[in-house]
Amino acid sequence: MTSNNLLKCLECGTRYDNDFRLSCDNDDSFLRMEYPERINLRQVNGIGKFTDWLPINEVLTTTAGPVTYKSEHLAEELGLTNLYISFSGYWPERDASIKTCSFKELEAHPTMQRLKESGHKAIVLASVGNTARAFAYVSALTGMDVYIVVPEFGLDKLWIPTEVTDSIHLITMNKGNDYTDAINLSQRIADLEGIMPEGGARNVARRDGMATVMLDAAFTINRIPDHYFQAVGSGTGAIAAWEASIRLRNDGRFSDHMPKLQLAQNLPFTPMVNAWNERRREIIPELDMPDAKSSIEKIYADVLSNRTPAYSVTGGLFDCLTESDGIMYAISNSEAKSAQDMFESLEGVDILPPSAVAVASLVKAVEKQNVNRDDVILLNIAGGGEKILKSEFSVSTIKPTASAKDSDIDLDLIMDTGSYRA
Ligand SMILES: *Cc1c(COP(=O)(O)O)cnc(C)c1O
Ligand SMILES: [Zn+2]
Repeated sequence: MTSNNLLKCLECGTRYDNDFRLSCDNDDSFLRMEYPERINLRQVNGIGKFTDWLPINEVLTTTAGPVTYKSEHLAEELGLTNLYISFSGYWPERDASIKTCSFKELEAHPTMQRLKESGHKAIVLASVGNTARAFAYVSALTGMDVYIVVPEFGLDKLWIPTEVTDSIHLITMNKGNDYTDAINLSQRIADLEGIMPEGGARNVARRDGMATVMLDAAFTINRIPDHYFQAVGSGTGAIAAWEASIRLRNDGRFSDHMPKLQLAQNLPFTPMVNAWNERRREIIPELDMPDAKSSIEKIYADVLSNRTPAYSVTGGLFDCLTESDGIMYAISNSEAKSAQDMFESLEGVDILPPSAVAVASLVKAVEKQNVNRDDVILLNIAGGGEKILKSEFSVSTIKPTASAKDSDIDLDLIMDTGSYRA
């Protein structure tokens, strides 16, 4: 890594070389990259444009990137005059070319590049679907090994828009295990030599990859928006939007006010909404997510089912919500589904369930007058276009290489050793 690419701890201020470092030696805080104050766009398509503010040296060649456009029909329906939509997915009409159909691909490309530039060859992650698809796809493109742990209910989301390669190792967890069980098992696999944990929200390549949503919006609108709407599961995307806004403010060309974070979860599983409504930094499981496993089974947007989000940690979502005086919404399945129908018929593209939750929260915000008619609003449609993609391309289903009964399983039973021991 070049010496001008440094990580800084948000708690104690210690600086570190980038490498693939995920945490501080002194405390539990997030690390954040220090970049040049002003971003100069590279003349490429896709997120490579934003290389100045990504923790990698080589310019990514993927055409995948977020697309920002001004809404006409949804805006009119809601009585808004400055509604902008950030679309991460597949929608050729708008030059949106994320073929795994969610903003998880914005995390996967820079993460795999960061892994490569720091001399590693294999990575492990847990996912309920969209992340797995994104990392599997980038593995197929780059040949770098990924070990993916998924609970059984995520399996139907595991396709990629290309041939499946030997570099993709899929471990499923039997029924009864949820996202957090998958996270626990992936943490044990990460202790094996030669396999790096992908780090979730602690991985600056994931945050800064997702931050390109806000960067692309700022360059399109020519300013930082007044409000940012997104459905949250781990909180990574919203933290990234906040960090991007800080960098844009310091850049100086995009106005100096920060966006209000307006975020949503899907009832009955809303731990961050419950904690935030009491302005509590700690999530108390008995209060904020009683009967977590059965609640998770009931939600429409199952990718929003993280029981250990990046909420309390220094630099996490609680801090971002506090600084932005944010608002959180609890959205029911039926509210999400009707918002989805409305969005699809007005904007003309299919969207994933979590994005339906985001649209429903915007509808609520308008009703509650949490936005004004002429405010500049950014609605993050973080996943969509799957129907369009599947009508144009044939996709390959990823077959499990192993299955685990629980997160305590003997690792020798599920790891094809040799492949990762370089
Ligand atoms: C993962 C995901 C989210 C939630 O993002 P987090 O960063 O986990 O909070 C929202 N929408 C879509 C489409 C997603 O794939
Ligand atoms: Zn520190």
